[in-house]
Amino acid sequence: MPDALADAETTELYRLRGTDYASPRCVALVGEIGKAVHCGLYRERPNPCREFAPMAELGVFSDACNRARARHGLPPLPVD
Ligand code: SF4
Repeated sequence: MPDALADAETTELYRLRGTDYASPRCVALVGEIGKAVHCGLYRERPNPCREFAPMAELGVFSDACNRARARHGLPPLPVD
């Protein structure tokens, strides 16, 4: 991962720049939130991003997703 795309949390742990900001937006996210977006690093995305979809299907990340969505004026994810 290029240094310009990540913030160091510890000497061994990095976050994609923007993902822990007050109004989160990953630096790799391309497009307009609420309309059409995609990951600009999809093939090289880090492990947490690869694990996100299967865990989200189990509802594991729904609270964090809904907080991020609210900060961008989007409604919460629908509940099954
Ligand atoms: S999937 Fe892509 S855009 Fe989303 S957080 Fe990961 S690197 Fe960023």
